[in-house]
Amino acid sequence: MTDHHSEELLDRIKEFVHTHVYPLEPDFLHRPFRELIPALNAKRDEVKRMGLWAPHLPKEHGGLGLALSEFALVSEELGRTPIGHYLFNCQAPDIGNMEILLTHGTPEQKQTYFEPLARGDVRSCFSMTEPEHPGSNPTWMSTTAVKDGDDYVINGHKWFTSSAEGASFAIVMAITNPEASNRYKRASQIIVPIPTPGFQLIRNISVMGDEGSDYASHAEVRYENCRVPQSNLLGQEGEGFTIAQERLGPGRIHHCMRWIGICERAFDLMCSYASRRELSPGVLLGSRQNVQEWIAESRAEINAARLLVLQTARAIDRQGAPAVRKDISLIKFFVAGILQKVLDRAIQVHGALGLTDATLLSYWYRHERAARIYDGPDEVHKTVVARSELKKYEQHD
Ligand SMILES: Cc1cc2nc3c(=O)[nH]c(=O)nc-3n(C[C@H](O)[C@H](O)[C@H](O)COP(=O)(O)OP(=O)(O)OC[C@H]3O[C@@H](n4cnc5c(N)ncnc54)[C@H](O)[C@@H]3O)c2cc1C
Repeated sequence: MTDHHSEELLDRIKEFVHTHVYPLEPDFLHRPFRELIPALNAKRDEVKRMGLWAPHLPKEHGGLGLALSEFALVSEELGRTPIGHYLFNCQAPDIGNMEILLTHGTPEQKQTYFEPLARGDVRSCFSMTEPEHPGSNPTWMSTTAVKDGDDYVINGHKWFTSSAEGASFAIVMAITNPEASNRYKRASQIIVPIPTPGFQLIRNISVMGDEGSDYASHAEVRYENCRVPQSNLLGQEGEGFTIAQERLGPGRIHHCMRWIGICERAFDLMCSYASRRELSPGVLLGSRQNVQEWIAESRAEINAARLLVLQTARAIDRQGAPAVRKDISLIKFFVAGILQKVLDRAIQVHGALGLTDATLLSYWYRHERAARIYDGPDEVHKTVVARSELKKYEQHD
């Protein structure tokens, strides 16, 4: 895509988000999600009519055929509102599931699972993390899938299976090859239609005071003798970890650019409030040096974050995610940290108003604390970066 087309596309998306999506936000914040579904479906239809649907997908699958670095810019625009990605059908975890189904799915799996997901007719979830094991070490898990006749029988306990409520299938990580000497080759990804006997959604976990809805929730799930055909294996047996890594590379670009969109919106709210709130008659909050410092630092950090993420997205486009693993880890913790700082400063500038639910700030503050934990906690990503840097200094005899 040329720069001209890219700018034109971003302008159209920006205009749509400002004019058609921002007005839905008060209802999103204050009304039960199910009451919003008709309005959201109408907007999704509008996105389809405008030819902007599923921008991450290739054209032959109904998308815009954007490179990752181009989609990254779209993701930022959509990230300025909590419902942007959903309206364009590129929300997590569906976007990651679409990507892996497209790459690894059999023709039947694509027809049954990918196509309805790409059309936005169904939702999905990804079920890997277990309460009894550290999610930061995903090669260590207890869930098993054992062959029996033509089936796999899955047993295990998962939690933080986001969006399981309302999903029509789960992609489950389970150990299929416990004897493999390489611990990265023990698990596989298996598609479990919902409902399937033995798939038990135990509860939606209350997170930061919110039990969620079928728009966004984090479920505890048990698989008890959950039987699915062996044809539901995604990719090769023992390749579950490799596929998960493939999914997470672009996924971190999506998240980071969405966070930058949130930062821009919070920055906007912060500056506009500082420019109108009077501390005493005629004395604006924005005249205080500390507020100016927060504004200047936030601007510098957001701009730097965007450049880093785009640089990494371009490197993935050129070389593939495994080649730039260190850079992906670097942006993951760096941008998550900036997101938190910018949100915190914006809330501070708003005073008590920032804690109310009158703006999006408190919503994002609650929901995005998780950014430093999901898709790998900060500490794990810092270790990857530091190890890679230190390697350059290792003594070679
Ligand atoms: C909002 C949200 C949504 C999620 N959605 C999904 C989903 O859809 N599907 C799914 O399968 N999972 C999901 N997860 C789970 C997520 O991937 C895990 O929470 C994450 O991988 C961390 O695992 P853990 O919570 O078990 O923490 P642990 O691995 O137990 O780690 C606990 C803490 O220990 C520290 N730590 C861990 N490892 C190291 C290390 N090597 N060095 C130093 N310190 C370390 C870190 O500070 C870390 O926060 C979600 C989580 C959240 C919060």
